[in-house]
Amino acid sequence: MINFEDLTIKRLHEGYKKDEFTCTEVIKQTFARIKKLEPQIKAFITLTEKQALEKAQEVDKRINSGKELRALEGVPYSAKDVFCTKGVQSTGGSGILEGFIPPYNATAIRKVEEVGAILIGKNNCDPFGFGSSTENSYYQVTRNPWNTEYVPGGSSGGSAAAVSANMGIFSLGEDTGGSIRQPACFCSVSGLKVTYGLVSRFGVMSYGSSLDTIGAFAGTVEDLSVVLNVIAGKDEDDATTSEQPRINYLLNLKENLPKLKIGLPKEYFTEDVDPEIIKAVKKAASDLTKQGHTVSEVSLPYTKYAIAAYYLSGISEVSANLARYDGIRFGYSDQSGQDINSVYLNSRGKRFEDEAKRRIMVGTYALSSGYYDAYYQKAQQVRTLLKQDFERKFQEYDLLIAPVSPVLPFKVGENMDDPLKMWLVDAFTVTINPSGIPSLAIPCGFSDSNLPIGMQIIGPMNSEKLLLQLANQYQSITDWHLRKPRIK
Ligand code: GLN
Repeated sequence: MINFEDLTIKRLHEGYKKDEFTCTEVIKQTFARIKKLEPQIKAFITLTEKQALEKAQEVDKRINSGKELRALEGVPYSAKDVFCTKGVQSTGGSGILEGFIPPYNATAIRKVEEVGAILIGKNNCDPFGFGSSTENSYYQVTRNPWNTEYVPGGSSGGSAAAVSANMGIFSLGEDTGGSIRQPACFCSVSGLKVTYGLVSRFGVMSYGSSLDTIGAFAGTVEDLSVVLNVIAGKDEDDATTSEQPRINYLLNLKENLPKLKIGLPKEYFTEDVDPEIIKAVKKAASDLTKQGHTVSEVSLPYTKYAIAAYYLSGISEVSANLARYDGIRFGYSDQSGQDINSVYLNSRGKRFEDEAKRRIMVGTYALSSGYYDAYYQKAQQVRTLLKQDFERKFQEYDLLIAPVSPVLPFKVGENMDDPLKMWLVDAFTVTINPSGIPSLAIPCGFSDSNLPIGMQIIGPMNSEKLLLQLANQYQSITDWHLRKPRIK
């Protein structure tokens, strides 16, 4: 039996090299585990067992013929269902795309497959990334592996729950305002939101195109570095990707880390934040001072405007991006009416979830000619102020550390009848995306009730190397990331 709980990319590759197990065995046992756990967790909308086993046989052939292992050779992974996967249903978590089978792969999917990764399935998520608990999905509610009465966070809750329950080694996710970091935090795994433009968005269903970023979840920062090495970089198919010198994030992890100046923004440590979270994050900061870093309080005065600026910007873009789902071109089509207009109205009316409709309506309103200046334009001005807030701090400080979420994971159903309360849960993650900067969420403790707590390490544009290095140092002196849920 393979011990899935300690399985990392490195450990898996050692096993392949020493002939401890074959890739086919790994994939078979991965699906046996999924079949055992999935009825309680519900992290997947679609499983791809047949294709995965076929690929595993190809990988075994390569290994047996003595070929060098590629970066993600034989590594089982999953992807949030907003990624287009060739020949595999891709719903975005929404009913309107039920049955949609893309004819091509998203760039990030293509890149990981080119170096040998094996897709095991598509993860449940809030429709198009709209939500913070994965409860808005058309298909099912994913449960938190640490306590199945609780939500896994969102919108990429299926990805975080799958990695946390060791169903696959990593998962590709999308973060527009926290959808990688917050579920990573709720499920006690590591999750990276990259600098805008570092990873191609091609083939990923758009939420807010100026905010969307593609990243990953994994059990360790080391595994995240391997995945980032593969997916980062300029892409001809996405004009917003930036030309950056290639960095080997994995090799850099082992480099000597300089002594850093770290800021703790006081707006993230107020009395509205759960005291257990404040305690855990401050403890983590003090652990880092023992490594020679200095930590001091700083202020980001515009933080309080972030929720309003983020949601206005994001949902304005939603209203445009969701226009393409018309019941004609992709997925579900309701043909019960008499004319083309009723196809549009019935398909969209029946299959967009309430949260998608809410965002289309509010976004359309914010962009309408009479209100554009008051809402959308104002939001863009505030966005600049938020960005400047960070830029000023990064002139003095190398990195910032803050809680990922002001609240602990909450119970399934607890926030569902209060959409505004659900939006406020994102107070500490939506601040980042409007500025384009990267942030890495890692586990840093547990509450008395054994619910995960996470912190985020935030840095200036293109500082992924430093974020990963510091997080790796933290993971080498602590063991929060090694604790595993006991799923009953
Ligand atoms: N929870 C946030 C929202 O609903 C973030 C979503 C995301 O990053 N995709 O908008």
